[in-house]
Amino acid sequence: MDLQFQRITELRTKYKMSQKELGEKLSVSNQAISKWESGITTPSLENIYGLSQIFGVPIDFLFCNSEKRNGQIQINKMESIKELYKVGRGPSSSHTIGPEKICKDFKTRNANADCFRVILYGSLAKTGKGHGTDRVIRKTLAPIECSVEFNFTASNLPHPNTMEIFAYKGGREIDYVKAFSIGGGSVAYENSPYIPPRQYYSLSSFKDIAQHCKNKKIRLNQFADENEDTDFDEYMLKIWKQMKESIENGLESEGILPGGLNVQRKAKFLFNLQHIDESKETRENRIVCSYAFAVSEQNAAGEKIVTAPTCGAAGVLPSTLLYEQQKHGFSDTEILNALKTAGIIGNIIKTNASISGAECGCQVEIGSACAMASAALGELFGLNIDKIEYAAEIAIEHHLGLTCDPICGLVQIPCIERNAVAAMRAINNINLASFLSETRKISFDAVVKTMYETGKDLLSQYRETSEGGLAKIHIDK
Ligand code: SF4
Repeated sequence: MDLQFQRITELRTKYKMSQKELGEKLSVSNQAISKWESGITTPSLENIYGLSQIFGVPIDFLFCNSEKRNGQIQINKMESIKELYKVGRGPSSSHTIGPEKICKDFKTRNANADCFRVILYGSLAKTGKGHGTDRVIRKTLAPIECSVEFNFTASNLPHPNTMEIFAYKGGREIDYVKAFSIGGGSVAYENSPYIPPRQYYSLSSFKDIAQHCKNKKIRLNQFADENEDTDFDEYMLKIWKQMKESIENGLESEGILPGGLNVQRKAKFLFNLQHIDESKETRENRIVCSYAFAVSEQNAAGEKIVTAPTCGAAGVLPSTLLYEQQKHGFSDTEILNALKTAGIIGNIIKTNASISGAECGCQVEIGSACAMASAALGELFGLNIDKIEYAAEIAIEHHLGLTCDPICGLVQIPCIERNAVAAMRAINNINLASFLSETRKISFDAVVKTMYETGKDLLSQYRETSEGGLAKIHIDK
């Protein structure tokens, strides 16, 4: 059996659905379902998207692959940490990083074009202005001239985030592609088979990973090294450099963020706001928050950031790590180890729950970022695996139920402040975990499962639709 599609069988069985019933929902025959499940054929992107909607799982969840280790077939379930940390332009992985990638690839293969035309459909059209999708597309295709159109009326789209892009030379069309931004910065193309990211890790629960690490007497970052490719360190160094650059650039920038909400950038102001009699606690708060504001403001302005795990929550992890590096003189190698540990935590959440605010609310974006930062600090300070688990668990536990309600759909209010508050919470968590881990009652896996269930119970108003919560408040622009 082709294990790539084993999850279709698993999910169909879980939902007590026959192949015929599933086929009817997708308007395909039961033979088609049978062929997908036995690996004879693969579903089209449209059907992959349909399956993810029917079963309420992210597209990538439908895939798992296998490899032989020690003579035994191992089913791999978690993607590379490189799929979690991505460099791209904010403020939204599906509305900016995905389209940016599509445009970059299209521009590379049409280097001789003198003009581009892009048409956005579905959610890319409806919320593209607020997210700055058109701005990012123009920046990516520059210096070549480009027009961006919004089509609000097209229905029956193969995917809610659909775009078409045309290349012209001398007034003649020379290339065209229909592409889809399918979430988390991943993309797919019409008439090309969707190639899901390879699954690198056979273990996907904290319990199993911790047991493996204890058996082998290794730390979580070493567990990541065991499973990733040989260029992993090089990639992570690039990620760390970009994180620091986002903080530096954010601290240098002033003015009003784009989008029309009239939100003033505050990172620089906060960073420079030193009082003569400032306590060291106040200074810590001010510096960490200014770093978190810096990255989040860069994100809101459509500048380059690292998803950690998402664009909206990109400020939490870098702010805590840079502050502690400056305070304690940790080397870049130590920081990379912390980033790897955080990556394992983020990957467990992504695999077993979600990191999408549109799917499960802000708890899975800011809460996950806080858990990642807490675990990263645990790694930096050499805490054992149980204490790291406790710190990450506290982070999720106290973000449970947090709704995603960005005003005007912009990733500004409440998102920017939330990054700063979560960064400070991560520092608190690590202190608490180092004292109290013996007394803890709830496992990380249990709280992740709870977060997912809570997210599924959230009304759609609280899942990045800007129809509820703070998003309903009228703001005087
Ligand atoms: S409120 Fe929504 S958009 Fe803002 S950070 Fe949270 S999940 Fe992201």
